[in-house]
Amino acid sequence: MASADEFDKVSALAAKAMDRMLSDRLLANPENFTLWFVYFSGQHPDLTRAVDIASRDGIALSQSLCDELFKRFFSLDAEVQAIRETSDKARFALGRVLEQLGNVGSETERYGSALSGFSEELSQPLGLTDLRAMVAAIAAETAGIVERQTALQLQLQESSLQLAEMRVSLDSARREAMTDGLTGIANRKAFDLMLLEAMDETARDGQPLSLLMVDIDHFKSFNDTHGHLVGDHVLKLVARMLTECIKGRDTAARYGGEEFAIILPRTSLDNAVKLAEQVRAFVGGRQIVNKARNANYGTVALSIGVAQFRPGENSQSLVRRADQALYSAKRGGRNRVGVEG
Ligand code: GH3
Ligand code: MG
Ligand code: MG
Repeated sequence: MASADEFDKVSALAAKAMDRMLSDRLLANPENFTLWFVYFSGQHPDLTRAVDIASRDGIALSQSLCDELFKRFFSLDAEVQAIRETSDKARFALGRVLEQLGNVGSETERYGSALSGFSEELSQPLGLTDLRAMVAAIAAETAGIVERQTALQLQLQESSLQLAEMRVSLDSARREAMTDGLTGIANRKAFDLMLLEAMDETARDGQPLSLLMVDIDHFKSFNDTHGHLVGDHVLKLVARMLTECIKGRDTAARYGGEEFAIILPRTSLDNAVKLAEQVRAFVGGRQIVNKARNANYGTVALSIGVAQFRPGENSQSLVRRADQALYSAKRGGRNRVGVEG
């Protein structure tokens, strides 16, 4: 049974969470409850900061913003992170146990040798057979402890290695989950998370943030003409060229199919438009060849939409505006850059 104190504390948190959902007209669903309960508990500093920044900036915590916060702080990825942190901690703890065990081991050894010295002394003048036998037995016992501890030490070392391996495989599972299988760049899932991170950073440092949505023109007919495999090769090539065009904190991701996205932290709309123009010219100017087959497939053109993040909007809204800019580029005749508004 919970203590009276704990009961009161948890009930108060639950009541605050319910009040908040009611007053902000949010759905009283388990996700919102978790979000607000944990917020009021203060146990998740990153969540607290995100909510407080939104409040400070006068941003209403709408249902869609709550959905985003929940996804960001309590989704599966948060779980993966928790597992990684836990295994880190476990390894650290195990390291300490090993150290302690090492100390205990050397102490026991000293104890053992002292006991055998004592046993030798006793053997000389007295002839107290019983006593001698007893002391010898104690010495033998001590030797046994040392032996057992050595075995235990080995076991613990092995567990530590296993834990380290576990962490490596968790890391690579996470990397894999975030990478697009065909092109090797960030996938849609990674894009979603990185965009949220970039938005969070913008809210903190007030720097501009821009987004490019990039779509290959007439890719269906390129596939129809040259085949799907050549199409796949082009997707890989375009992904590589996009990566070559960006630097530092920028992220290029495959958004889906023949669509890519580039997140540009600390970049104004004007600079994002300039970069988009460079990307378009760079990719459009590259001849796609297969040297082994001595084949030249010509070039592919890109249409690009550009939008800058507006404080208070959610990620869907930013993506939607960049997408609208992309479609204006398509409508305007393709192979061009469209700008929001
Ligand atoms: P638009 O200029 O309007 O963008 O025309 P589009 O043909 O590029 O656009 P549409 O949406 O009609 O077709 C997209 C094409 O992209 C169709 C699909 O076969 C191709 N595509 C999507 N994903 C892949 C892929 O992984 N590999 C290959 N080879 N093709 C893909
Ligand atoms: Mg296309
Ligand atoms: Mg498309």
